[in-house]
Amino acid sequence: MYNDLKGQVAIVTGASSGLGKAIAKRFGAEKMKVVVNYLDQEKEAKDVVNEIHRLGGEAVAEQGDVSKEEDLDRLITSAHENFGSLDVMMNNAGIQTETYSHEMSLEEWNKVISVNLTGTFLGSTKAIAYMLDHQIKGSIINMSSVHEVVPWPYFVHYATSKGGMKLLTQTLALEYGGKGIRVNNIGPGAINTPINKEKFSNPEEREGVLSMIPMKEIGEPEQVASIAAFLASEQASYVTGCTLFVDGGMKLYPSFQAGRG
Ligand code: NAD
Repeated sequence: MYNDLKGQVAIVTGASSGLGKAIAKRFGAEKMKVVVNYLDQEKEAKDVVNEIHRLGGEAVAEQGDVSKEEDLDRLITSAHENFGSLDVMMNNAGIQTETYSHEMSLEEWNKVISVNLTGTFLGSTKAIAYMLDHQIKGSIINMSSVHEVVPWPYFVHYATSKGGMKLLTQTLALEYGGKGIRVNNIGPGAINTPINKEKFSNPEEREGVLSMIPMKEIGEPEQVASIAAFLASEQASYVTGCTLFVDGGMKLYPSFQAGRG
C-alpha cells in the first residue's frame, strides 16, 4: 500500500472487467477516489463502485467510449465535479480481433486504432490539459502490451496500436516532464482476463501460450494492478517515459531458454 495515494483522484477507463477492474479495485484499496469508466457493462461497473466503497475508497461509474472526444471530456468533468481533482489517468480500455492482415478491412483496422491508440491519446492529452490548468503534478499511465515491441501476426492493428503507444508515451513524458507530469506505460504479457478467456480455456492453446513464458505461468490481473499503484505513487516519482513490462519474461526471446542459440 502507498500512503500518499490516499484521497487522490483517478480515472480508470474500461474498468468494468479484466485489468481495468483490478486496477480500479486496487485504487479503492488505496483509499483513492475513482471514476470507473465503462462502455456498455453498466451493472459490472456499478459492482466495481460498490466494491471500492467496501474497500474504503470513493467511486462513481461513468459511461463513455474512449474513442470519442466528448466522452473523455465528460469523464474528466466527472472527476472534477465529483471529487474536485484529477491526479491519475489510467488509460486502460483496449480491444483486439484476429484476422489475416491481407484480409483486414479498413473498418476493422480503424476500430482498433481508434480505441487503443487514439483513445489513449485523447485520455492522456485531456488529462494533461486538466493537470496543467490546476497545477497538478499528476501521473498518466497507459496500458500497452508486450506487443509494444513484439510483432504479432494476425493482430497487425493491435501491435501497431501498442507500438504507437510507446512513442506516444515517450513523447508526452519528454514534453511535460518539466511540469512534473509523469507518463508511463504498463506492458502486460498473457494475463487471465476476459480478452483471453477463449484462448486460455482451450488446453492446447493454453500450452502454446505457456511455452512462450519463461516463468511458465499466466499472469493474474492483480499482478498488473500492483504496478499501476506503484506508477501512480510517490515511489515512482522519478520514473517517466518508461514501459514497465509485467510478463513473466515473455519478451526475452523464450525460444532461447532451452538452448544456447
Ligand atoms: P477486457 O476485455 O476484460 O477489458 C477491456 C475493457 O475495455 C472492457 O471493459 C471493455 O468494455 C472496455 N472497452 C472496450 N472498448 C472501449 C471503448 N471504446 N471505450 C471504453 N471502454 C472500452 O480485457 P483486458 O485484458 O482487461 O484488457 C485491458 C487492457 O489491457 C487492454 O488495453 C489490452 O490491450 C491490455 N492488455 C491485456 C493483456 C492480457 O493478457 N489480458 C495483455 C496485454 C495488454
